[in-house]
Amino acid sequence: MGNSDSVSLGSHTGNESVERLIYSQSDRPTLRWQESLKRAIRTPKELLKELQLEEAQVTFSHKGLDDFPLFVTREFVSRMKRGDSQDPLFLQVWPQGAESQVVPGDLKDAVGELGSQAIPGLLHKYQGRVLLIASGACAIHCRYCFRRHFPYDQSPKDLAQWDKAFQHIAADPTIEEVILSGGDPLSLVDTKLQQLIRKIEQIPHVKRLRIHSRLPVVIPSRITTELLEMLRGSRLAVWFVLHINHVNEIDDELGDSIAKLRLAGVSLLNQAVLLRGINDSVPALESLFTKLIDLQVMPYYLHQLDRVEGASHWEVDRERGRAMIRELRARLPGYGVPLYVKEEAAEPHKTPL
Ligand SMILES: *Cc1c(COP(=O)(O)O)cnc(C)c1O
Ligand code: SF4
Repeated sequence: MGNSDSVSLGSHTGNESVERLIYSQSDRPTLRWQESLKRAIRTPKELLKELQLEEAQVTFSHKGLDDFPLFVTREFVSRMKRGDSQDPLFLQVWPQGAESQVVPGDLKDAVGELGSQAIPGLLHKYQGRVLLIASGACAIHCRYCFRRHFPYDQSPKDLAQWDKAFQHIAADPTIEEVILSGGDPLSLVDTKLQQLIRKIEQIPHVKRLRIHSRLPVVIPSRITTELLEMLRGSRLAVWFVLHINHVNEIDDELGDSIAKLRLAGVSLLNQAVLLRGINDSVPALESLFTKLIDLQVMPYYLHQLDRVEGASHWEVDRERGRAMIRELRARLPGYGVPLYVKEEAAEPHKTPL
């Protein structure tokens, strides 16, 4: 079952050496969030033990674990209910038996991303925005993830290797926004991130920086003073898109980190994925969106699941999704209801359902 004694960060390719990025400053003291990564849970056995669950209480598939091992931080696990095999946070990281089902129509590259990679690690699919794969690593492995089959090992890992991406952005004045994504861009250390952001700031026609990250959710202490200063001091308008699927993912520590980002002048949005058995009910979505707007995080997108191999058991029928959104509109302020969208390979934008 996986390598419990390894201290490597979660990586989509299992064997990718991301430590070079994460621990590039070996003379610096290890930060609290890096300690969290080292102490993360990496084996099914360890997770069951932590949650006081018996093997007989869960279904299990080993099939996806070689490419995409179990990986979850203790902070995230601490918000799961002990002894509950149906806990909505547990189910997001647990390799269920259904993962081994292959359903006709499932694709490895479900959203046709490989075709829009002009430069390795840079996706220029929509007008005015480019998406930079800043890191292939994540601090949690979400079993439904559409990026789980992405060839991160072919993406740049060093700043020098980003040169082609920066050249592409600099040569195209229509690009006004750079989206740092991944994997998770906040799995980079602050010094690397700062270098990356400086490079982007040097391109005059870029006006906005967007960061897509789930890291503050699984390790709230990732919102360091250095990071806050970097974002506050940037000439770019900074938008931060969190990824939270269930209200139980939000605890006080995450609330504090969100408040700090807000005070640093960062605008906050959230994207969620509609997942069967996790958040596919009006009350579940209502409590998530309500909690988010109370924290001044605007629900941005609710994604219809991408048809990725090994994840079809999560899919929610679109008609049911639409009906839930209609119901939510009658219950919440307009800004509390996200756009329900699907990513279609050939479309120039996310498609509202
Ligand atoms: C989703 C996505 C974006 C951002 O789209 P918005 O609608 O602006 O949030 C940009 N590039 C790619 C490749 C995407 O998949
Ligand atoms: S959903 Fe986000 S955080 Fe989770 S595995 Fe995928 S890229 Fe990483």
